[in-house]
Amino acid sequence: MTIFRKIIDGEIPCHRVYEDERVLAFLDVNPLSRGHVLVIPKEEAATLDALSDASSEAIGRVLPRLCRAVVRVTGCRAYNVLQNNGADAHQAVFHVHFHIIPRYADQGSETGGGLGIAWRSMGFDHGAGAALAERLATAAAED
Ligand code: 5GP
Repeated sequence: MTIFRKIIDGEIPCHRVYEDERVLAFLDVNPLSRGHVLVIPKEEAATLDALSDASSEAIGRVLPRLCRAVVRVTGCRAYNVLQNNGADAHQAVFHVHFHIIPRYADQGSETGGGLGIAWRSMGFDHGAGAALAERLATAAAED
């Protein structure tokens, strides 16, 4: 059982932002910036690929609304929606969650260590890319 299950069950308190039958959103207790919100399904799934369509739909429906609330209330100039899957992808809590992380022009009082993203692309081979896209399309269609 993860810490998020305990939060859903009310065994551990949280600063709740939103709740419905399938979704809970609350403030991250170790925020990367002011207004850092976590959006989670109530369903127990460790990573996004294991999440049901019903929970995915429920999260997809409210995520833009929660982003709008974060922008409106914090006045942030931009934000990231981050979703980590697996320890190698920096996932620490193995219950699906989406981070909404406001970005501020002033990196001082509004931001902690912040979110560092190193975006270093690799080369692209169009022949290999075409074959890969075809395999992915088939896998997605068969799922
Ligand atoms: P991950 O690295 O798994 O994507 O992020 C997990 C997030 O959950 C972290 O940002 C961490 O601060 C947050 N978190 C972990 N435990 C708790 C908790 O007990 N309460 C709240 N509100 N957030 C938590």
